[in-house]
Amino acid sequence: THFGFQTVTEEERREKINQVFESVAKKYDVMNDSMTLGIHRVWKDILVHKMNPSPGTLLLDVAGGTGDIAFRFINYVRSARERQLQRKLRSHQNLSWQEISESYQEEQCKPLGDSQVVVCDINKEMLKVGKQKAQYLGYSEGLSWVLGNAEELPFNDDKFDVYTIAFGIRNVTRIDLALQEAYRVLKPGGRFLCLEFSHVSNPVISRLYDLYSFQVIPVLGEVIAGDWKSYQYLVESIRRFPPQEELKAMIEEAGFFKVDYQNLNLGIVAIHSGFKL
Ligand code: SAM
Repeated sequence: THFGFQTVTEEERREKINQVFESVAKKYDVMNDSMTLGIHRVWKDILVHKMNPSPGTLLLDVAGGTGDIAFRFINYVRSARERQLQRKLRSHQNLSWQEISESYQEEQCKPLGDSQVVVCDINKEMLKVGKQKAQYLGYSEGLSWVLGNAEELPFNDDKFDVYTIAFGIRNVTRIDLALQEAYRVLKPGGRFLCLEFSHVSNPVISRLYDLYSFQVIPVLGEVIAGDWKSYQYLVESIRRFPPQEELKAMIEEAGFFKVDYQNLNLGIVAIHSGFKL
């Protein structure tokens, strides 16, 4: 590979990956849209629907970058709260208008209830872009940003209800450590969800996908971000990442139960899920 991963140390590899995301941070969102033709948005929506967070959920989004999963989580919980409130009001038909209005105002003051999402990423630049985006889009309540390494999370044991990692785990130097850390910070009963590029089993689609990845994506990287090498790295990291069954076994190895995965778009992407008991 152009980084010669076979010969570099873990520390050097971590540093190179950090450089990649530092250099792509500002163009990361536009590149994501152009590389996946916007489909990454649907994949992320599916992840959050699978999570189906209820009001009160405490989510840790690792390698959260520019906040896409966190913003979707907030939208989802807001709508769930809204539906909850409507149900509550319907079931209290004998309340006065004043009582209904007070109850509504009280609920609207905390549209997320006690839900919170912590975005954790190793890269300052990605977090900076995420924070600017949050400000621009009006997300603040229940959202925090933490600089940290997935392999050594700066959080206490048994803290979170859900752990997500979207398009992040393949960039982590020691996947086994990241999985152990995910297990440690989840509460018993907590859920692990990983959205990641994976492997296509259909040989024809796989060939077309390879052509697109190796011939088109680095060119897009050069044209849009002036950065051929970073996008070549992204493609290589996808190819080097363990296939679905292998990742499933690694998640089980970390201690998770009921580990399963769902292929999206014939396996271009997969969502792995597991529970801490
Ligand atoms: N989750 C976001 C999304 O889906 O748009 C960002 C994904 S981006 C492809 C990968 C992210 O992983 C980058 O923001 C990078 O800084 C982060 N990352 C790489 N290695 C990491 C590590 N060891 N710990 C935490 N984050 C890491």
